[in-house]
Amino acid sequence: MLKSLRARIFGAIVLVTIAGVLLSLFVTDPRIIVGGGVFALLLGGLLAELLTRSLTQPVAEIARVTAALTAGDVGVRLRSEREDELGELARSVDRMADAVDERLARMNSEEAQLRTILDAMVESVFVTDREGRIRVTNAALQRLAGRVEGRTAVEAIRSPELHEAVGGALGGVASSVTIETRLGVDPRILAAHVAPLPGRLGVVAVLHDVTDLKLADTVRRDFVANASHELRTPLTAIRGFAETLADGAVSDPVLAKRFLGRILEHSVRLQRLVDDLLELSRAESPDVVFTLEPVDVAGAVAKALRGLERSAMEKKITLGAEGLAGEALFVEADAVALDHVLVNLIDNGVKYTPDGGQVTVRVRAAGDEHVELEVADTGGGIAQSHLSRIFERFYRVDSGRAREVGGTGLGLAIVKHFTQRMGGEVSVESKLGRGTTFLVRLRRAQKSTDAA
Ligand code: ADP
Repeated sequence: MLKSLRARIFGAIVLVTIAGVLLSLFVTDPRIIVGGGVFALLLGGLLAELLTRSLTQPVAEIARVTAALTAGDVGVRLRSEREDELGELARSVDRMADAVDERLARMNSEEAQLRTILDAMVESVFVTDREGRIRVTNAALQRLAGRVEGRTAVEAIRSPELHEAVGGALGGVASSVTIETRLGVDPRILAAHVAPLPGRLGVVAVLHDVTDLKLADTVRRDFVANASHELRTPLTAIRGFAETLADGAVSDPVLAKRFLGRILEHSVRLQRLVDDLLELSRAESPDVVFTLEPVDVAGAVAKALRGLERSAMEKKITLGAEGLAGEALFVEADAVALDHVLVNLIDNGVKYTPDGGQVTVRVRAAGDEHVELEVADTGGGIAQSHLSRIFERFYRVDSGRAREVGGTGLGLAIVKHFTQRMGGEVSVESKLGRGTTFLVRLRRAQKSTDAA
């Protein structure tokens, strides 16, 4: 059996030629010669037909498979078992398809890796085409600006600065800009770095959301300014009185006594401010460990009330407690922090309630999970417009009045942070003229053997 195509064609020609020669050697009858010629013609035609068929069918198959490969169906194969040149061609096509398949799989895996990296980034990323239309984005950008593919950077981020930076990068110049924009409800501040892609095919932009950093920076600067201002006031007063004393007032016993009294008063204020600042930094510092353990609420409330009995008595304010008599309640708390929370709230009640009023602490279980501690007073109350801000550091409704009663403006900020560090929350309800109620909600703890 002849295997190569060339051998087959050659064989067929040789066969027909041999038949012709034999015919011409042994046969003289012209009819037989004509008949033999016709026969040779038919035989040649038949062989040509068979050969053509054995060629066109595998060629058509190869054409079908290469068309499928071109269309992206990299799974198709010829798997030919022919041993001629067409079989060899089919096997080459299969090997080429294997190589394309492997390269495509590698590219897909690289693309998946790239996508995972892009989506894991905190920064928002986009890549544009040479017209400046966004073609690739990552999850962070989608969270920030929604789906933006096909839009220009300025349409997506709405920032003229970014628009300019993208324009510059399309022209081949990389740049870094800080942009302020409003995406969704909140204004955002983004640090953007925009660079051209190789061959000026577009640009790549990386946007880092620095809103919280900037906010923290502003809060810190405000805090330093406020604290310095608060510290300067009593210090200036102390210095002023001391200088007046040194200038001669010390020899006037009445003046000297009065000025020394004022110096003492301002040093107490200074001391209170420094104590509160330290307390606040303790409440906010992640390095300070809060040991949460079951604390007996009744004991904690009784201790805080005892500590404020004197100042309440001076203003003829009745201190009361409700809900302590029943089942003993325990909260998950740091005993010292809980004491600060209660003292600050009861102390505020006493400070901001006119003489003869009442400050009451109520304790109750809120289901099996929580305990609620309420500190209610019968004072003048707080206007609605101030309520959302009173937990801010140094925020006072009436600064003059607050200073007069010895307030530092830090008490409620300390309360808020301590409560949060204990896994709880604090809220306030107040109506002008009807008094104020602070509600501290802490996690309920099971009675421990130590606490029992
Ligand atoms: P301060 O040391 O000035 O009392 P706080 O942070 O404790 O600071 O309170 C902030 C402000 O909230 C106070 O200056 C006061 O105006 C208001 N405030 C707090 N507690 C009460 C209350 N029980 N009744 C009325 N106003 C209150």
